[in-house]
Order: sequence, then C-alpha cells, then structure tokens
Amino acid sequence: MMMLRDLKAQYTMHKAAIDKRIAQAINDVSFIFGPEVEELERRLAQYAGVKHCISCANGTDALQLVLMAWGIGEGDAVFTSDFTFFASAGSASIVGATPVFVDIDLNTFNVSPVELEKQIVKTLQEGQLKPKVIIPVDLFGQPANYAAIEKIAQKYGLRILEDGAQGFGGAIQGRRVGSFGEAATTSFFPSKPLGCYGDGGAIFTNDSALSDLLRSLRAQGRSATDKYDNRLIGMNSRLDTLQAGILLAKLDAFEQELEAVNSVALSYTKLLKDVITPIVEPGFFSSWAQYTIRLKDENQRDLLKKHLEKEGIQTAVYYPRGLHQQTAYKKYSLSDDLFPNTVLATKQVLSLPMHPYMEHRDVECVCKAIAEFLKGD
Ligand SMILES: *Cc1c(COP(=O)(O)O)cnc(C)c1O
Repeated sequence: MMMLRDLKAQYTMHKAAIDKRIAQAINDVSFIFGPEVEELERRLAQYAGVKHCISCANGTDALQLVLMAWGIGEGDAVFTSDFTFFASAGSASIVGATPVFVDIDLNTFNVSPVELEKQIVKTLQEGQLKPKVIIPVDLFGQPANYAAIEKIAQKYGLRILEDGAQGFGGAIQGRRVGSFGEAATTSFFPSKPLGCYGDGGAIFTNDSALSDLLRSLRAQGRSATDKYDNRLIGMNSRLDTLQAGILLAKLDAFEQELEAVNSVALSYTKLLKDVITPIVEPGFFSSWAQYTIRLKDENQRDLLKKHLEKEGIQTAVYYPRGLHQQTAYKKYSLSDDLFPNTVLATKQVLSLPMHPYMEHRDVECVCKAIAEFLKGD
C-alpha cells in the first residue's frame, strides 16, 4: 500500500539520529521537562522567528491554553474557518466561548477575508456575542491570508490566534508560520509536517507576559518561583522529554524535507490533468501537510477514491463535513446555504499521498492511476 504519509520511510532515513535521542532521554531518566524540552523550545522559537515557544501536550491544548490566558469565555465570539479540523472550534467551545464559522476561498481552502468581515458585522448587529478572537487556520500547509485578516482584526479590535497545526514550515514572503497573530500554535501529531511519535504541541508568541502566563497555565497554574504555589487554575499539558528529543532529531532534517515535499507537489501539479490541483498563492510557501485535489462532484470523488484503493494507493477526504455540519454544532441550526464553498469542498476534495520520501515514480504511478480512472469515467 502506498501510504498517505510514509512515517516508516522517514524513520528508516533518520534512524540513527532518532534512536540516539531516544536512548539519551531514557538514559538521563529525566522524562518530564528534561533539557531537550528547553532546547527544542529555543530552536523552534528561532525557526519561527519569534521570542517565545512554549511546548505543551498537543495542538488542541495549545489553542485552549492561549484562549484561557486571554480570558476568553462565556459570551465571546471566536471566528474560525468552517473547513478545518474540529479543534480549531472545539478549543473555543471548551472555554465557554461560541465559535462562529466562516466560509472559505476555494483556491486555498483557507478562510475568506470577505466572509470573515461579514460574520463579524453580523455578530455585532445581532448583539448577543462579543467578537474577541479570530483563529485563522493554515490548512494543508499553506498560511492563511494574514495581510487581509490583520486589517480586519485591527478594524474591529480582535486578537489573532494562528492555528498552524498543519502549516509549520510554511511562510509568506519569508515570514514563517508561528509568527502570525499575537500568538500561534502548532501540533506535533505524527502526520503533521513536523511530527513526533505520539502527541505534542507548541505555542509561539513575542509577548513575554503571555509566555509567562502560558508556562504557568500548562503546569497547573503554578507560580514561576514556587512550584507548590498554584496561583491560577491551569491544565496539565506538557511535552515529554522523549518527544522533544525525537523532534530535535527530525528538526535537523526539516528544511530538506520541505524542499522535498515542494518538489513532489510540483511534479503532481505538472502531471495531473482534468482535476483541479491545489493553488499556492504568489509569495506563499506551503509545507504540504496534504496535497488535495478537487474532482467534478461527490460521485466522481468517491469512485476515484475506491479505484485508487484497489490500486494500492491510500487517499483521504479532508474534510467530509464543515464544522457547521458537526453533530456537536447542530444546536446552532446553521444552513448549508451560508457556507457554499465549504459544502462544495467537502464533496470534491481528495488528498493524495504526500511526504518527503516519495519517489518520483510513486508520483507518476498515482497520476497514471488517476488518468486511467478519468478515461473510463
Ligand atoms: C491536528 C490539528 C489540530 C490539533 O492538533 P492535536 O495535536 O491533534 O491536538 C488543530 N488544528 C488543526 C487545523 C489540526 O489539523
């Protein structure tokens, strides 16, 4: 089976470095907040181009911790894309706030700035909720349109929290994911652009006071000077030393991997005919968490998925429904008509195998299987 993301190929390639880091962490028996955690935070902050990186247990906690630190809760509106992984909105719900979903641009699958402003204005007119935060998502590896989003945030006095779970390594004109907004988050879930061997996450910010608060909130709200004085109600959300070690080994290969996935994407886009291939906007750089094509309709998409499976090619539908269609959010009674682009995307999208260790002949094989299917369709 040709895997969507071949983590085994990556491990085989970097086995010596990864094994060394794992052995070191175990040998040091410093499993929680070992030196690797600090080293990783330092290197990630430097990579993203921000002052502070605060690691935590996963990308969902990362979002929740920032919302907690900002005091977001009951009566607050948090705007996010309708076409994303559940956590982009679930993190707002869990702190008691109300997520407000925004339709996407079909070219990039990212939140539409025009629709974002419409939803903010509508929320203000309705007068039930206070607009507080925008959570733009860097879907499939491409950063959201921050130039436009920042203008809107400024106009309405909202904070930006970048959900870079899929975007780490991406950039806009050299400015990297993790540096947009007042704070940004990422996930080290194994299949993300930079993944560990379990769960992991991180928060990025230039705000030193926020950084201190987050370090406390991730450790039960403890005081920085007296670890048994709990000044706040926090979470237990830590990145293991072992995972930090694995990430340090992988970080050494990350730039090379980004080059490799971009070359795979280029080959796909050149070879694929009669399907809609993903667009990276001028000046934008994608870390290609997914390479997602669009088919004519749901029927063609589902048949192609089955055909590729038969040919031994793994694919995935990210995402089969918009957040407004999630059972947990049925209570908002939001009509599909409000999110035409998201609804169309859920029917048309198919993500193809994409990872740094994909050979050119694998790309050719996928493209050939797609061409054969379309010929007979
Ligand atoms: C994966 C993901 C998250 C959550 O990350 P976890 O580490 O799995 O908690 C949040 N947002 C987006 C867009 C994601 O893809």
